[in-house]
Amino acid sequence: MKFTVLGYWHGFPEAGEACSGYLLEKDDFRLLIDCGSGVVSQLQNYCPIEKLDALIFSHYHHDHFSDIGVLQYARLIHNAWKAEDKKLTVYGHLLDKEKYNQLSYEPHVTAIPYNPEKVLNVGPFTITFLKTKHPSPCFAMKITDGNTTIVYTADTSYFQELHQFALDCDLLIAECSFYEHQDPTAAGHMNSRDVGLLAQKANTKKLLLTHLPHFGDRNQLIKQVKAYYQGPAELAKTGWVYEN
Ligand SMILES: [Zn+2]
Ligand SMILES: [Zn+2]
Repeated sequence: MKFTVLGYWHGFPEAGEACSGYLLEKDDFRLLIDCGSGVVSQLQNYCPIEKLDALIFSHYHHDHFSDIGVLQYARLIHNAWKAEDKKLTVYGHLLDKEKYNQLSYEPHVTAIPYNPEKVLNVGPFTITFLKTKHPSPCFAMKITDGNTTIVYTADTSYFQELHQFALDCDLLIAECSFYEHQDPTAAGHMNSRDVGLLAQKANTKKLLLTHLPHFGDRNQLIKQVKAYYQGPAELAKTGWVYEN
């Protein structure tokens, strides 16, 4: 599988960049994970929009969700101009019905709810879920192609089950919205210490820090994480690729 970062900012995208959005590809199947502000623009540097097969949402906060509307328009415009019928399937949870109802845009975009208690198969990927600690209902995802396993924490504060969920994964994509001296628990986010401990307890082979803060020296996040986790750790950036 090939994993590409399209956007990684917490809250809003900085100039020319995007909030949460990650492209996962295998065998000509393309899955987008989250679709925050700026993601549709960034996506086109890596994949024509009409080639996207599926999209899955961790939750419906703006920085993960807000480009769904323009993605629907992009599919409509492509199909109208090219006289094609390229369908996109969008997966989301049902814990916010009003937001879930915004996912579909028939006949171009079809929404399917996922049941977080069950395993979801999307193309070549098998996805399991864990509800996170966050103000808006949100699900971490463990995604495998039978060979490689990646875990995306989505938005969450640290809690015990998270490291069990992520145990022995090949790549841990962890939100790191705050620095070690800050306490982000009430906000439903993790700081660099939380992420370091999570990666260490999960025994992950590789760690990617994402959902990054706008202020401070972000290189400090890596230094702080490495006090707890000795494996390879990197900061997300646009176009960062993991292939395995
Ligand atoms: Zn959120
Ligand atoms: Zn977020």
